[in-house]
Amino acid sequence: MTFCDKLIVAVGVNPAKKTLFSEEERVKQITSAITSELDFLTSTNVVASSFQGLLVNYAKEVDAQILIRGIRSVSDFEYEINLAGINKTLTPKLETVFLPTSPELAVVSSSMVKEIFKHGGDIKKFVPQGIVKDLGDKFGFVKTGKTCSKCGKSDNLKLTDDKPPFTYCRVCGVVV
Ligand SMILES: [Zn+2]
Repeated sequence: MTFCDKLIVAVGVNPAKKTLFSEEERVKQITSAITSELDFLTSTNVVASSFQGLLVNYAKEVDAQILIRGIRSVSDFEYEINLAGINKTLTPKLETVFLPTSPELAVVSSSMVKEIFKHGGDIKKFVPQGIVKDLGDKFGFVKTGKTCSKCGKSDNLKLTDDKPPFTYCRVCGVVV
């Protein structure tokens, strides 16, 4: 990361949109990914933060000169080029730079990762290690030491809200 002195990974918060993780959780996840997974970046002053409202206003507030937007695909590009045009009109001094994603991550989207995870697939290649645990907590998976009698796995077990609660395999529906 040589093209900026300070990088702010900004989480845009839309109160009308329901997200799986809260604003605080998302900032925490990014901070933890920066410090634990991206060691090489910590020396260049990377921080995670969040904002509501217009991105250009937030950029002004933190005195940012460049907006870096990740591009995974042509469809991302179509959306992003329009947004860049609007941002440029609103704030002419602020430049947008597009950063293509690594090819192995180009297919990754949050909805896809959640879907794979819910069906018991391995998401370790797609997300930082901490996110795997957070998703498990969010979806109510529990570590009970038990395994499902049908699939033999222990990482899809869910504890119900019943009293007393019982554990079942989300994938197979088997009570364990
Ligand atoms: Zn099972």
